[in-house]
Amino acid sequence: MAKHKDVRIPDAGAYTLRRARVPDVFFDGTMPGRERDADGCALVDLSIAGGKIAGIAPAGSAPPGPGDVDLEGRLVWPTLIDIHTHLDKGQVIPRAMPDGTLDGGAIGTFEDRKRWTHADMHARMSFGLRCAYAHGVGAIRTHLDSQEENAPTSWDVFRELRDEWAGRIDLQAVGLVPLTFFRKPWGRDLAKMVAGSKGVLGGTTDAIGHYDGARNEELVALLDLFFEIAGAHGLDVDMHVDQSDDPAAFSLPLIAEAVLRTGFKGKVLAGHCVNLALQDEATIQRTAELCAKAGIAVSTMPTPMVYLQDRKPGRTPRWRGVTAVGELLAAGVPIAIGGDNCRDAWFPYGDHDMVDTLQQSVRVLQLDHPLTPAIAGTGPVSARIAGFAQAGRLVSGGPADLILFAARTLNEFMCRPQSDRIVLNAGARVRDPLPDYAELDAILAV
Ligand SMILES: [Zn+2]
Repeated sequence: MAKHKDVRIPDAGAYTLRRARVPDVFFDGTMPGRERDADGCALVDLSIAGGKIAGIAPAGSAPPGPGDVDLEGRLVWPTLIDIHTHLDKGQVIPRAMPDGTLDGGAIGTFEDRKRWTHADMHARMSFGLRCAYAHGVGAIRTHLDSQEENAPTSWDVFRELRDEWAGRIDLQAVGLVPLTFFRKPWGRDLAKMVAGSKGVLGGTTDAIGHYDGARNEELVALLDLFFEIAGAHGLDVDMHVDQSDDPAAFSLPLIAEAVLRTGFKGKVLAGHCVNLALQDEATIQRTAELCAKAGIAVSTMPTPMVYLQDRKPGRTPRWRGVTAVGELLAAGVPIAIGGDNCRDAWFPYGDHDMVDTLQQSVRVLQLDHPLTPAIAGTGPVSARIAGFAQAGRLVSGGPADLILFAARTLNEFMCRPQSDRIVLNAGARVRDPLPDYAELDAILAV
């Protein structure tokens, strides 16, 4: 009996991963018809040749070969997708230290941004990517703070890293500014630059401030302008939405109405939307249905929200800080899961590990029994939203970018950190270690 730790992946050539257990959701509707187990997983033989998945067949039916590896029913997943992170901000601890508040995150980032030279960003973003790669993340959508003064450098570094990491991590960037920036000439310039970099247009509704009676009209006009600019450049959009515990600062339904009103043709991803969970039941229901009608997908990033939301000195939080995921899913809204901030002024923890993010999200969101929607949110759902072709799905002809787990069941998967996972890139074992924190010392020395 070959234990997980004894698995040997051939260095080259063709081989078959025999008796691999794969959650059905990763086949994305292309599973070779056969029965599933109680977890909704299929037992298959995965044939690998030339770095690609050459075939997916029911277990026991692939022709044997000398390099075959019998996994004896252990889990094999495709590399996962992080739909929402901020590589540009990350790995700055202790140069910047969060204080646990949203205001502290904004102020700390504003201060740290002054140090974002090309070399500084390249070093920190590379570090983050190396973490993600070692953990088995195959695609990342990162937001980039895109104020006029720093956007050219940030996007230069991003484009360099996207080329450098091609074939290992599929990278996509979102130009992130407060929605109010689209009133300025820079808004249109940014959209042009984002389009030229095959990016996505971002905007945050959070920075509009404290709302009064004029708020709705102001936001409605801004959203029309935002979708007009994005549409003119053929861009998809990914917004930071309602990252607030104030139920009155509620822009999600206005975004959905704007999409329907303007006939915007691109994809719309609304991130966070946490105060949806603080609305009354009828409003939650109505808003979820409106999002479904407008074709809006929602991304949820529970790990930093649990840290940031409902934090008050001397008081234990009463609210988990996350959106109404169950109601959104029930209404047919696609839900993607992201890792978000990592070791920055907003959130001091994290390691760009989507296995950890998934495990924490399941617990925070009670997204289990079954686990399928949560798993889908780290793979096929995110792939469809972002248009990633290389990760999050397991299809014949696709790259053999895989994660092999010691776990045989989803319960076993959920109960350990899976630190002994084996990551494959193009069919070969990834041996790159997690980067050493000491590598950041020089760049973070003030
Ligand atoms: Zn974010």
